[in-house]
Amino acid sequence: MINGRYADIIVTISHEKVDRPFQYRIPETLLGKITIGMCVIVPFGAGNKELAGYVIGIGDRPAYAEDKIKEIRRISEEGMSARGSQIRLAAWIREQYGSTMIAALRTVLPVGRKMATPQKRQIRLAQSPEETQPALAICRRKRQNARLRLLERLCEEGEIPYECATGELSVTPAVIRAVEGMGLIAVTAQTAYRNPVNAAAARPRSVTLSDEQKTVITSVLDDYRAGSPGTYLIHGITGSGKTEVYMELIAGMTALGRQAIVLIPEIALTYQTVERFTARFGERVSVLHSRLSAGERADQCRRAEEGEIDIIIGPRSALFTPFRRLGLIVMDEEHEGSYKSEAMPKYHAREAAKELASYFGASLVLGSATPSLESYYAAERGLIRRFELTRRLTGGTLPRVYVEDLRRELRDGNRSMFSRRLRDLLEARLAAGEQSILFLNRRGYAGFVSCRACGHVMKCPHCDVSLSEHRGGRLICHYCGYEQAAVTVCPACGSSYILGFRAGTQQIEENLHRLFPQAGVLRMDADTTRKKDSYEAILSAFARGDADILVGTQMIVKGHDFPNVTLVGVLAADLSLHAGDYRAGERTFQLLTQAAGRAGRGKKPGEVVIQTYQPQHHSIRFAAAQDYRGFYEEEMQYRRLMGYPPAAHMLAVLVLSQEEEAGMKLAVRLAALAGEGARVIGPAPAAISRIGDRYRTVFYGKSGHMKDLIAIKDKMEAVLEAENSRTETVQFDFDPMNCY
Ligand code: ADP
Ligand code: ZN
Ligand code: ZN
Repeated sequence: MINGRYADIIVTISHEKVDRPFQYRIPETLLGKITIGMCVIVPFGAGNKELAGYVIGIGDRPAYAEDKIKEIRRISEEGMSARGSQIRLAAWIREQYGSTMIAALRTVLPVGRKMATPQKRQIRLAQSPEETQPALAICRRKRQNARLRLLERLCEEGEIPYECATGELSVTPAVIRAVEGMGLIAVTAQTAYRNPVNAAAARPRSVTLSDEQKTVITSVLDDYRAGSPGTYLIHGITGSGKTEVYMELIAGMTALGRQAIVLIPEIALTYQTVERFTARFGERVSVLHSRLSAGERADQCRRAEEGEIDIIIGPRSALFTPFRRLGLIVMDEEHEGSYKSEAMPKYHAREAAKELASYFGASLVLGSATPSLESYYAAERGLIRRFELTRRLTGGTLPRVYVEDLRRELRDGNRSMFSRRLRDLLEARLAAGEQSILFLNRRGYAGFVSCRACGHVMKCPHCDVSLSEHRGGRLICHYCGYEQAAVTVCPACGSSYILGFRAGTQQIEENLHRLFPQAGVLRMDADTTRKKDSYEAILSAFARGDADILVGTQMIVKGHDFPNVTLVGVLAADLSLHAGDYRAGERTFQLLTQAAGRAGRGKKPGEVVIQTYQPQHHSIRFAAAQDYRGFYEEEMQYRRLMGYPPAAHMLAVLVLSQEEEAGMKLAVRLAALAGEGARVIGPAPAAISRIGDRYRTVFYGKSGHMKDLIAIKDKMEAVLEAENSRTETVQFDFDPMNCY
């Protein structure tokens, strides 16, 4: 690729406007020296005006007649800039995940390059007040009162804001210009960046690092200094001191003049993280996320590019902060699904971070209490280095976990949504004035069908994932499209208590009111957090002790410490267990472990109740035992057996079409193409088979090697490009996080 003779070059480049690329010839002298992302000088337009452009692609085929192709003049002095590495990353994302170059560029380039930044102007005396006296006398004599007011004030104060002159002193800009023209004053412009971070936060606490923490810090920094930066996984429960390690690493990096990106999974978590980082690093910290205005975002990018900040904190897209001296990328809660983009190109921030780090020779540090199978597997194979933080430094003991078998509750005549144990423990908490959290895990919920008497779940005979209930009770596999009629008796035990699983936070709230009329209940779900800031408001109210019980979806398991919470109830652990995709077990294990971690953060010991129809499921058993390793080994057996990531790789191909039949026809053709290099499942209508007026057809390819799947994607892209008049859209998703 590097040795091609032609380069595609974009001359104007910004998030809003990416011109089409122009092809240029690489001169003999530069052959082999031009790389993607490089800034070069090219002749442009009829006058052959010299312009700077970025190389976004290199190839061997001329797109026009040879004599129509102009030649690159030289490599720009700028060399490899922040912009350059972004473009290189865009090219990598395009290649790796499949999309157009334009879409990839839009993903990585900061928004609003062209936005004007407000200027903060100051007026100051150009000379000393004494030297200004003669001018003052002249103004008095000529009755130039505006000039007089301005100069008199400046003689007193030396310097005033421009707005003060035009406002309070009512001096017009024309007069200011005139006085400036006489050399009496100077107007200076300072760029007033919008800074979303309030640096006047709490003072940092200093801690004595534990030996485990020190080991991580020394290893990462020593590797970096030795010129062999790597990828590291910090496996440590919440409160084991990971964030403290991140900050120490950043301090080490900034001491070396390097900059750092800290990725967090959700915007909702930014606030607390930023507070801790600014307490330590002050104004060198900023944030970047989608709730900032376009202007604010553009400013943070500029501040980063100009080296005014060293640390940026934000979700996925903060990875694209244009630092020039990047030394470290931290990815907290690296297992979170939100690190994968849901829009095209569907890149995973962990993979993109690895790539970006390699351009800069930067270190990549992943942290989690429940690492993704991908990362743990990579550590097992020696591809990344793993560290364990085994102790909780905040004190507080690990909670006691009870697994309550809902099948038994039913057998014993309890049909309420609360097991007897959970009800008793809730009652005890209310009596003791302690708080409880009830958690309904709806993430990835897809309407599975299970038997209340024996726990049997209806599964696809081919894919070993749960079937989903569709209208009329039909059961469908979201991977292969396998379908069967509604069931009325359990195929395992003959019970007629086999039905779809339905529960909502609102129902739980109502049931609580009935059961404990005296209890204060707060509810947090998509409905109650629709308004801006309501998330924070509910959590703060609960932290203040405004309610006894907090009911909510997965939103409540993260952020905020509630020292007075001594009981956590997981109402239906099965909801996430049977989401109909291969990651359901992993997500459940993570959520249960996280939820359990919410109990007993303070001095009092905590208890956790997990209610389920499948107490023997490995996700539940190992979460209850807080045994990550045990979970990992059993889950990997399943992934190996079924050929699911990370044991193998998977490519989801989603075809969107106006007409159902046309979409299926295209999917069948592409699937045949994919079949030449991978095992193909499907095509079938997607779980959500239609959004808006577009039909969704999906198939999956599986292979032991990612590069085989990328090659297949390239083949499909080539076919689609050759028939570019078509109305169907095709999306690729490598190692998908959810099913379609
Ligand atoms: P994590 O990011 O793993 O949840 P934190 O870094 O937030 O852990 O640490 C949890 C708490 O323990 C914080 O209040 C932090 O200040 C404190 N802490 C971290 N490291 C130490 C240490 N070495 N000694 C004492 N307290 C520590
Ligand atoms: Zn049954
Ligand atoms: Zn199937």
